[in-house]
Amino acid sequence: MTPPVIADLRSDTVTTPTPAMREAMAQAPVGDDVYGEDPTVNALQAEVARLTGHEAGLFMPSGSMTNQVAIALHTRRGEEVICAEGSHIYEWELGMMATFSGVVPRFVPAPLGVPAPDDVRAAIRRSIHQSPTGMISLENTHNKAGGTVIAPEVLHQIRAVATGEGLPLHLDGARVYNAAVALGAELREITGMFDTVSVCLSKGLGAPVGSVLTGSAAAMKQAHRYRKMMGGGMRQAGVLAAAALVALQEGPARLAGDHRRARVLAEALVNAGFSVNLAAVQTNIVYATVPDAAGRAATWAERGVLTNALGPQSVRFVLHHQIDDEALDRAIRVLTA
Ligand SMILES: *Cc1c(COP(=O)(O)O)cnc(C)c1O
Repeated sequence: MTPPVIADLRSDTVTTPTPAMREAMAQAPVGDDVYGEDPTVNALQAEVARLTGHEAGLFMPSGSMTNQVAIALHTRRGEEVICAEGSHIYEWELGMMATFSGVVPRFVPAPLGVPAPDDVRAAIRRSIHQSPTGMISLENTHNKAGGTVIAPEVLHQIRAVATGEGLPLHLDGARVYNAAVALGAELREITGMFDTVSVCLSKGLGAPVGSVLTGSAAAMKQAHRYRKMMGGGMRQAGVLAAAALVALQEGPARLAGDHRRARVLAEALVNAGFSVNLAAVQTNIVYATVPDAAGRAATWAERGVLTNALGPQSVRFVLHHQIDDEALDRAIRVLTA
């Protein structure tokens, strides 16, 4: 028999819709969104565009789709996408940049998830003998680096590199709200300098489904075509958008608690003898070095604590709003037993 789950720390995608979301879903006015006629989807798109400081938005089923549509928008076949090492757009999106857009990644070093503007500039390819650079993509917060934050100064410097070279700049902002909260910044202060931004509603904000891509109205018009090609044209998607609108209201204020609890967890793991790079624990993610990670994760799961073994010696823990202080306490007792 499987035990009751004490804490599901595998990801911040595992949350279930709140009562307010369920209520909004039941009440939402809807229409056919492929025709652009779903009022709730339109309201969500306008709201996320306003928040990111962009002209328009487009709702999609996943963050992988918003990222890959952005890559299709900004590149031509045979080009390179400059991105921070470990970026989700390459590591965890199943080679879609190659299969859909015909482009390849060029990683730049990114200590704690932050590429140096000079390294970005040095990665740009212009020679006739090389595949030309098509775009630059950043990830804030950076998942694989530990949920780490890129400061606005660095974003502006990389924007200047992109502008100087005439390159489009995309943000994989799956957890950009976590970054804004950690920086104490308004969202648009860390998104407005990008040409396109992908914002996940289904991570820390807690919506059941969906991400929004934002950018210029012209770019979103073209993005609508790519979304349809990928099978992402949804019809009465207002039921999902309604939950996402509630997530935008309820979600951001809860993130600081997730960040605080991540720190508590990280320190408890260190005290129990696990190795954690505390400098990387900046938001809601904790990576610990754990010998026999898969075996350990299986044992913890048997005791009701779900985690994600992502390497032979690496376990990821992600905090979210359905882990309160009490659940975390109980989880820590299992993890440090
Ligand atoms: C989760 C995530 C995405 C999108 O994932 P989907 O499961 O496709 O919604 C994109 N980028 C990063 C950094 C992520 O963590």
